[in-house]
Amino acid sequence: MTSSAPLVLVPNYVAQSYPGGGAGARFRGLDRSIATSPEDWIGSVTERFGQSGIGLSMLSDGRSLRDAVEKSPEDFLGPEHVAAFGDDLGLLVKLLDSSERLVVHAHPNRDFAKAHLGCAHGKTEAWIVLEARPGAEVYAAFTRDVGRDELRTWVDEQRVSEMVDNLHVIPVVAGSTVLVPAGLPHAIGDGVLVLELQEPTDFSVMLEQGQFANGDLGLGWDVALDCVDRDGWSAQRLAGLVSEEGSRSGRLLPVEADAFFRAALIRGGEDQVLEEGFAILVVTSGEGKLGGAFSGAPLSIAKGDTILLPYGAGPVKCLGDVEVIVCRPPVPGASSPARPLL
Ligand SMILES: [Zn+2]
Repeated sequence: MTSSAPLVLVPNYVAQSYPGGGAGARFRGLDRSIATSPEDWIGSVTERFGQSGIGLSMLSDGRSLRDAVEKSPEDFLGPEHVAAFGDDLGLLVKLLDSSERLVVHAHPNRDFAKAHLGCAHGKTEAWIVLEARPGAEVYAAFTRDVGRDELRTWVDEQRVSEMVDNLHVIPVVAGSTVLVPAGLPHAIGDGVLVLELQEPTDFSVMLEQGQFANGDLGLGWDVALDCVDRDGWSAQRLAGLVSEEGSRSGRLLPVEADAFFRAALIRGGEDQVLEEGFAILVVTSGEGKLGGAFSGAPLSIAKGDTILLPYGAGPVKCLGDVEVIVCRPPVPGASSPARPLL
């Protein structure tokens, strides 16, 4: 018998300036009025940029997950993770649902974040599309080399159509996945519900400023634009980041993601055992149970539920007619790919 049981995570809506479409609440089986934001940060130890305390997931005992992990890192993360990363969880998972195209932006990589933001993490991210309206699209990577002065002009003069017109357009359906390396300019289109895995920061450089006053992270644009990958990407190179059809089981993201996070789709069954280790589980369809040697009764799960699996819960069996996306922190020892990724 182990001491730690799976923890059910309640929605953690973190205010944003763009409107949601209600898909996040529907996915969770909640009334739309409860979803006060299009972003639900799941198992978050991350604060909104410049807003202390905002964004942290709270546990039923009143502690923040961040405090709980800092107090018992081995129990949550396991010895191998702690040996590699200390008590740094290394992962943020979000449900993100937008009723409009999000602004064009980019995120710093680890080297930039260390040099300018005092943080070991940048914000490589990945999208797993859970729902998409017919014709839905996302945008990533410039189609041609963009000069530094040209990009600066687009930002200064907010030439949004030029930014968007020079990005690759990626059609998406439910099941599509896109890995977005730090630095790559990108935007999620309207009518898409994504499960986003990312490094645990809130660093965004808003090329398209919309309502964002602090789009340069307070660094000044001369510095902030250094984090943007201005290279033109060929369609072939971009294809290495995208799965348009989506995987129906097993690994969901390319191996290049392993230094940042991992995701796998599993189905319930007698032989479906999740190996011990920290994970955030997102139930995407059906109903089932999680069982194991952990304390307490097996846990009933259903579509829309989100569960934190601490290392201390041991191996967990997933039973029933249920599909679950298993999100995990980076692989200890996986090296951070040198830029450019792929
Ligand atoms: Zn982003």
